[in-house]
Amino acid sequence: MAYIINDDCIACGTCIDECPTASITEGEIYVISPETCIDCGACADVCPTGVIAPAE
Ligand code: SF4
Ligand code: SF4
Repeated sequence: MAYIINDDCIACGTCIDECPTASITEGEIYVISPETCIDCGACADVCPTGVIAPAE
């Protein structure tokens, strides 16, 4: 399981420094690597647009 960033990401960059496993990659829309995400939720807590959520 991993957290997922949806298409409404505004690429603000707030989440990337919060990830303890460096699982977030920047881009037009930021992306979380499911191989290394440990489901800690730190990124979701700081995202101003609420576009990060646990995978179903
Ligand atoms: S849930 Fe935690 S490990 Fe996964 S991308 Fe967010 S901050 Fe990184
Ligand atoms: S904090 Fe939220 S809106 Fe900002 S880059 Fe990360 S996922 Fe996108």
